[in-house]
Amino acid sequence: MKEIIKNILKLFLPPRCIKCGTVLGDDDGLCPECFNNLNFISEPYCQKCGRPFEEIKKQKKLICGKCLKEKQSPFRLSRSALIYDDASKDLILALKFMDKTENAKVMAKWLHIAGKDIWQEGVDVLIPVPLHYTRLLKRKYNQSALLSLELNKLIKKEVDLSSLVKHKKTKPQVQFSGKERIKNVKDAFMVKNPESIKGKRVVLIDDVMTTGSTLKECAKALKKAGAKSIDTLTVARVI
Ligand SMILES: [Zn+2]
Ligand SMILES: [Zn+2]
Repeated sequence: MKEIIKNILKLFLPPRCIKCGTVLGDDDGLCPECFNNLNFISEPYCQKCGRPFEEIKKQKKLICGKCLKEKQSPFRLSRSALIYDDASKDLILALKFMDKTENAKVMAKWLHIAGKDIWQEGVDVLIPVPLHYTRLLKRKYNQSALLSLELNKLIKKEVDLSSLVKHKKTKPQVQFSGKERIKNVKDAFMVKNPESIKGKRVVLIDDVMTTGSTLKECAKALKKAGAKSIDTLTVARVI
């Protein structure tokens, strides 16, 4: 019965490409053309931070120079589905600012695939990077929370929307670079109830990883609360 209703609905409301609006034969989210414009990150990539390698023969357990140098990274693993470029930027901005919340469902499928190494290592809880409550009121939703809730349907891991909070209002990171970004988000996050985080393997979910300073500040608060490990999973990353 459910299938019949679904098929009738399809006649009137056919699935459309979330980018260009082309009517699609099935519910894949993107038309072939828009899909081909995206740059998905695939192996070989750094086994720790997920940074893609160019033209390196596929080897097991390859670690990039940055990770070898930076011994005290707060993250166990970092993974992203896409390279942040004009094509992925459009989709992410539409989810973030233009109420295209249906994009989260398609992106969660990509996060599910990009996170395969993380699921293998073991995970207890998904935590979206939180917004300050004033920003949340303005935007009405947190795009990272939407991504986490959609991902929960695929991976069946608990989503914690309340423990990690952004208690300091910061300026949008996009206007800053490098050191200013670190300074802007410094001590902006805290864990409200450390007992719910203690001993947990956490995956931080966000739309974009740029320099990683926001995710690192989140990790700092989670570590302080006793998290066992912290991974990051983002839709796209700046390379
Ligand atoms: Zn399209
Ligand atoms: Zn690396």
